[in-house]
Amino acid sequence: AKTFEVEKIRKDFPILNREVNGYPLVYFDNAATAQTPKQVMDAIVDYYSNYNANIHRGVHSLSQEATDKYEEARIKIQKHFNAEKAHEIIFTSGTTHGINLVANGFSSILKEGDEILVSAMEHHSNIVPWQMLCEKTGAKLKVIPMDLKGELIYAEFEKLISSKTKLVFLNHVSNALGTVNPVKSIIEKAHSVDAAVLLDGAQAAPHIKADVQELDVDFYVVSAHKMCGPTGVGVLYGKEEWLEKLPPYQGGGEMIATVSFEKTTYAGLPHKFEAGTPNICGGIAFGAAIDYMNEIGFSEIAAYEHELLEYATAKLKEIEGMKIYGEAAEKTAVISFNIEGLHPYDIGTLVDKMGIAVRTGHHCAQPVMDFFKIPGTVRASFSFYNTFHEIDLFIEAIKKAKMMLK
Ligand code: PMP
Repeated sequence: AKTFEVEKIRKDFPILNREVNGYPLVYFDNAATAQTPKQVMDAIVDYYSNYNANIHRGVHSLSQEATDKYEEARIKIQKHFNAEKAHEIIFTSGTTHGINLVANGFSSILKEGDEILVSAMEHHSNIVPWQMLCEKTGAKLKVIPMDLKGELIYAEFEKLISSKTKLVFLNHVSNALGTVNPVKSIIEKAHSVDAAVLLDGAQAAPHIKADVQELDVDFYVVSAHKMCGPTGVGVLYGKEEWLEKLPPYQGGGEMIATVSFEKTTYAGLPHKFEAGTPNICGGIAFGAAIDYMNEIGFSEIAAYEHELLEYATAKLKEIEGMKIYGEAAEKTAVISFNIEGLHPYDIGTLVDKMGIAVRTGHHCAQPVMDFFKIPGTVRASFSFYNTFHEIDLFIEAIKKAKMMLK
């Protein structure tokens, strides 16, 4: 097998050379935001240096160039997720925006008595918009439970789903636990009762190349910043038939066909959902990030990250008092843990003093923490530019922190 050239890859990420608190940076907060390679930074500099202009309306050359590059990025993203049509890719400001757009659209479709199913391991951004939707429509939110391994209980899902179910939404991969959910069978089952499925792909997209046609998923949402792209941009994939059915989310320029004070008609897809000047540079940089990751290869990335996960899990388990949450059979490179008697925040603060960035707290998934009856965890999440050596440094730092806190 081809060896994974991590040292070569690391050279693409200038930030990995910096020190934090006098130590070389070890960045293990990739599930929150991934770092940016210079190829993506180059795309940003190129945009502002050479063809910064508003899109879709100017006749002048810069505007045409910017429009072409932006639409090329849409097509790159379409191809990456294997959407059938480019106009099924809607640029958003990120996952949260994509979910709210769909939830808002369903407020004119759902009726009292309809039911929507959500998983027990969702990010707040995939809970709150649906609660707001239920308040508006009188629909009812039901929760697919999980077990102590952090896996959804499929038999319970089968009991919950019925002809009343109109929507099912869950994350493809859990940000708090790393669990990869059995989305294919959930989608099949949901479609058997004509329910639509929205997958929150925020955590899956950096590790798994989702094929929306193969999954037959109705909506798939992602954020660029989890995939080596910039913050403030993402996409919503929606099946054309659904996007045609849903009303626009925001009104404004770019999303109209004609406007008069008597009546406005909306533009076709994708513009109907893209009101106002978009994050043009962000969209183009997202395209560059997708190119960058595909150049390395998603199966290579997944295989390497899995080795990092196994190595780190085994090392962590040697530490006395270690409790890892979420040991699903299939998971991405996320480890959520606590050490008996210690507060996660204290561990996070101390390892930061040694240059190591991890996340502590509830990870915007309070129901998951409630399930395990804990206030929060320490979460280390790895990317393809991390190394086994960094994991060794992390393990040493954890041991030191433990001694200091005892
Ligand atoms: N869903 C999941 C599973 C996430 O991990 C995140 C980001 N932590 C989000 C949604 C929200 O993404 P964003 O903040 O980019 O909108």
